[in-house]
Amino acid sequence: MRKQHPMREDGVVAFDLGIKTLATGVTDQGRFYHIGGFKSYRYYNKQLDKIRSKRDKCKKKSRRYIRLSKVYKRVSEKKRNKQRDCLHKASHLIAGKLAERAVVIGDLSQRQMVMKNHESETPKEHTKRRIRNRMVYNDWGLYGFTQMLEYKCVRFGKELSIISERDTTKMCHVCKHKQDMPLWKRTYRCSNENCGLVMDRDENSAVNIYERFLARPGPHTGDPVRCAECSPQSTCLKTF
Ligand SMILES: [Zn+2]
Repeated sequence: MRKQHPMREDGVVAFDLGIKTLATGVTDQGRFYHIGGFKSYRYYNKQLDKIRSKRDKCKKKSRRYIRLSKVYKRVSEKKRNKQRDCLHKASHLIAGKLAERAVVIGDLSQRQMVMKNHESETPKEHTKRRIRNRMVYNDWGLYGFTQMLEYKCVRFGKELSIISERDTTKMCHVCKHKQDMPLWKRTYRCSNENCGLVMDRDENSAVNIYERFLARPGPHTGDPVRCAECSPQSTCLKTF
């Protein structure tokens, strides 16, 4: 029989899903979780690009061409397996081992919508966006990850909520001021001088998702409202 982990019925954990860190979470008790993701995608991509460029220099259907195609297939399969394994472990950790019964994540389909709006971009920005898309949607498999989370949460008797994540990265969770947050900025430094919050960008976003979940409209009963800043404790869970 599967080992049962203790569950807090009124517990809530909200996650920001991302590229640098797969999932950054905050609980109703103000505790932070950092779950690292698949680290070696860069290594695999480099290898794959190298094999492909070698192959493309060969005559099509030549013996070398066919051999390199096979190698390419083998390496990309290995990459996929490693990645899936990593996502499985992470979703299992969230659904099966964390104590909070309610799990909240942002709605990723909105992210794509934001990226589709690209009429005024320069060619450089266009290339950048394409690379970013490849990173988010193919290499990280965030969609696959949310699907895994969905069925694992059902299996472990948890409630998964998917809510709008609009501006959760841009907004300061303390003073609600909004500022641009390009991907390379890993730290949120609130430019509102009366506030001056300095916080990890993913943690700030997770707190916003958590607060948005509590403030969500519609019938829901007896959620415990507690300030996420009361007991700031950072706990690194695991990095695969
Ligand atoms: Zn602020």
